[in-house]
Amino acid sequence: MDLASRLADIDARIADAARSAGRDATAITRIVVTKFHPVGLIRDLHGLGVRDVGENRLQELAEKVDAAHDLPGLRWHFIGQAQTNKVRLLAAAAARVPLTIHSIDRPKLVDALDRALGADGGPHAASPIDSLLQINLTDDPGRGGIAPADLERLVEQTARTSTLRVRGVMGVAPLDEPPAAAFDRLARYSERVRAVVPDATWISAGMTGDYAEAIVAGATHLRIGSAITGPRPERD
Ligand SMILES: *Cc1c(COP(=O)(O)O)cnc(C)c1O
Repeated sequence: MDLASRLADIDARIADAARSAGRDATAITRIVVTKFHPVGLIRDLHGLGVRDVGENRLQELAEKVDAAHDLPGLRWHFIGQAQTNKVRLLAAAAARVPLTIHSIDRPKLVDALDRALGADGGPHAASPIDSLLQINLTDDPGRGGIAPADLERLVEQTARTSTLRVRGVMGVAPLDEPPAAAFDRLARYSERVRAVVPDATWISAGMTGDYAEAIVAGATHLRIGSAITGPRPERD
């Protein structure tokens, strides 16, 4: 299958899964994860109507925004671990293109982003960046995401900034558990976030292997890579 057929196939499966779950597929954003692929893939996807792409490395995101910021209507999603010493790259990207950050996962990152985005009347003072709090769905504290016990504090801290807007939660299902169970927990964490920020309704969940389960659990944003792009080129 070529890129267009794989995209159409996944979109049909998303529509089916939404219908079976009694959900409106148009309320679900399908993000195509383009990490490690050349920027030409983003142009090809844009030509096929894709408007949401995801990257998981700051340097790569910065390079691709530079090379493809001209594509009309394209929205960028940062889904990777953000090192605090590189947040300037995120701020620079956000000044050029629409950007959502899916991976807010610690107080230090909120502080660093807030400073980089210009808390004191910088370009984002009027339009804060759409931000999702990544929650660790595993028992391993070394994995990405805030521990559920610390969730409310991070929501409150993020919501207090003028540069970041809390839109919801993000999670990656652990490998050693059925994804449906993990996504059910994520849905409950989403309720806890909405108790603090009522309109933070976004749930970013579901990848190539588990997007159907994520749709059942209420995901509003799917992050799908290899099922659409084909295998990723080797990196590092
Ligand atoms: C790479 C990646 C994806 C996409 O993974 P696939 O299995 O290729 O669909 C989704 N979410 C995150 C956080 C990723 O890093």
